Amino acid sequence: MPGYRQHLLGGTVSFLALYHWGPSILQASPESPSLIFVAFCATLIGSLFPDIDTKSMIQMTLYQALFLFFVIAIFMNSWHELLICAPLSIFPLVVHHRGIMHHPLFLIALTTAACGFITIYKDISPSITFFIGSYFIIGCLSHLLLDFGFSHTKDRFLLKNKK
Ligand SMILES: [Zn+2]
Repeated sequence: MPGYRQHLLGGTVSFLALYHWGPSILQASPESPSLIFVAFCATLIGSLFPDIDTKSMIQMTLYQALFLFFVIAIFMNSWHELLICAPLSIFPLVVHHRGIMHHPLFLIALTTAACGFITIYKDISPSITFFIGSYFIIGCLSHLLLDFGFSHTKDRFLLKNKK
C-alpha cells in the first residue's frame, strides 16, 4: 500500500503530465502563474484526498482545517457555510476505506459538484474552477492508480464490481 510520499510523487507526475500533454485548455498558461501554483497544490491535495476515509495524514489535516474553518465561520457569522460543511465533515467517518471515496466516478461527480457550488456561491469564473477541479481530479486518479493499478482502476471506472 503506497504511503503519502508515493501519492504526492504520483500527484506531481500527473500534474506535469496534464500540464504538458493534456488538452490545450488545461495547458494554456492562465494569465497568472499563481493559478498554476494553485493547480499544482490542488493536484497534490487530490493525490491524497481519497484516503480521507481512513486514519491518514490527509484525514488529520482535513479535520484540523475544518476545525479552523468552523471557528472562523462562527466568528464571521457564516452560518450557511457551517450548515453545509458540518454534515459533510461526518461523511468520511462513516464510509468504508477504499469504498466510495476510492471510486473514480464518485470523485469526479463530487469535484464537479464542488466546482459548480464554488462557481455559483463564490462568484468565481467557471473556467478557473474547471481548471483547478481538473487538476484535483487528476490527482485523485493518480491516487487510485497507485492504490489499485491500471486494470482495477479501469474496472472501477466502468462500474465492473470487483472489490
Ligand atoms: Zn487510498
